[in-house]
Order: sequence, then structure tokens, then C-alpha cells
Amino acid sequence: MKFLYFLPKDGANLLKLLNSAAEVISYNGKNFDLLVLMKHLGRRRIVSAKKHLDLCEAIQTSYRLNHPLRLNTLTKINLGKAKHTLGREMKNSSLEKLKAACRSDVYDTYRLWKMFKASALRFPGFDPRSDDQWRWFAGFYKLLCPKCGRQRTLWFWDGACRDSVRDGHGNLIDWSSGHAKCISCQYVARWELKRVFDGNSMRRINADRPYFLKT
Ligand SMILES: [Zn+2]
Repeated sequence: MKFLYFLPKDGANLLKLLNSAAEVISYNGKNFDLLVLMKHLGRRRIVSAKKHLDLCEAIQTSYRLNHPLRLNTLTKINLGKAKHTLGREMKNSSLEKLKAACRSDVYDTYRLWKMFKASALRFPGFDPRSDDQWRWFAGFYKLLCPKCGRQRTLWFWDGACRDSVRDGHGNLIDWSSGHAKCISCQYVARWELKRVFDGNSMRRINADRPYFLKT
């Protein structure tokens, strides 16, 4: 593996390299790195959109996350380490420290990209095999993948109680919802769970299972 460094004066060489590459992987490049380069180099285009994969965006889209994940979050969970240097700490670093920080980010991004390609990335929260709450959730409701029907293959994340309302009888209805991805067939499904409680005793009076919505 080879690392190359480009100082502000090396912009033309960087452009040449980017345009000769078969694929360019960035983390949040669309919202940060490319914009910085556009401004610095006075160019409207840095690399063709077809061969640029912004891993941050790809993860958010692929797993239908409500918000982008920070690199630091993913490295902690997947690589067992925090990001080398946080962005805001880089401003006052020496050149050698900057190089070490950039190298670390690039290598982390590379490893996360490999995991992403292999569908082996983990997310904050809700792996039913490791997180008690979601293991309980999937186990209690005996949730199977709605696509391939396998057991214990669903990953959950972003589950949240969405809303509570009173119906005409004074009962309390609340909805929870979130997403699950099957680690076997890769299907992503949105699930919902509607629960009804007696308005006075708050005893649960229905026994619905979570259901999957077609996506
Ligand atoms: Zn499946």
C-alpha cells in the first residue's frame, strides 16, 4: 500500500491522479473535500461523479439512515479505534502531524469501504446478536427476514417511539418504527409496531406483532 501526500501547490498533480484512477473513494467528499478542492483549484469539477463513491453518502442511502454517520462513529464500532485526529484539531497541527492524521483517515476509509462492500459494516445500536434490547425484540416477536425468511439475520437501527395518541375510547396508542437489514440477503425493510394501552390502567390491551412495510 502506498500513501501519497499533496500540498496546496501540488493541486495539478492531484487532479491528474484523480482523473486517471479507476475509482475514487471518499468519506463525505461531496460535502467537504471536493468543495475545498474546487475552491482551491478554481475548478467546477474535480472528479467524474461516475467513478467517485462518497462512502458516507453510500452508507446513508444503502441503509436508509436518517442522518449521515461520522467517520469517528464508524471507526469506533468497526475498527475498535477512534478517529486519529478530529477535524477541528487539525487546524493547528504541524505538517507531520497532519500527514499522520490524513494517512489514518485514508486507511480507515479504505478498510470501512472494504467492509461496506462485504456488507460487514456495523452501526451504532441495534445488532440483534449483540444488543440486548434488539435481541430481545427480534427474539420475542420471532421476527424473520420478510424477504428470505431466515432467523436471526436482521440488524435493527434507528428504532424509536414515534407517536402517542388517544383514541375515541380513551386508550393510548403508540407507534414505534425503524429499519432492519437482513445480513443474509441484504434486504432492507421498514418495520412498525402499534401498541394500544388502556388509558387508565396503562395495561397493554393488544398483542400486535411488529410488521414490515414494503419498501
Ligand atoms: Zn433475508
